[in-house]
Amino acid sequence: MARDCDVWKGETMKRIYTNLDPSRVGLYQSLLEENGVGTFIKNNNAPYKEGWPELWIVDDDQYEASLELFKELDTQLSVPVGAWDCPECGKHVDEGFGECWNCGSLKAS
Ligand SMILES: [Zn+2]
Repeated sequence: MARDCDVWKGETMKRIYTNLDPSRVGLYQSLLEENGVGTFIKNNNAPYKEGWPELWIVDDDQYEASLELFKELDTQLSVPVGAWDCPECGKHVDEGFGECWNCGSLKAS
């Protein structure tokens, strides 16, 4: 689970990701937590003018591995531009969606 940043005073903490969108930061956080990387979020509830939510990892030895995880997630999340027709079921999928609303197939890249 996420921990309050004040708990962690170690020198090895490293900021790994920041995004204006807290839900995106949360998504990256759960990815890391699922893979055993200790994390916390700064500025999670800050007014957005005061700073974007920041995802930190507790142990910077896991930094490189974490970036690799992000790359995989980015590949999955990369949403193709434009509407497309599903090759599996033939349904029309609107612009901005990377997977078919009907059968869940991913758009071919
Ligand atoms: Zn489909």
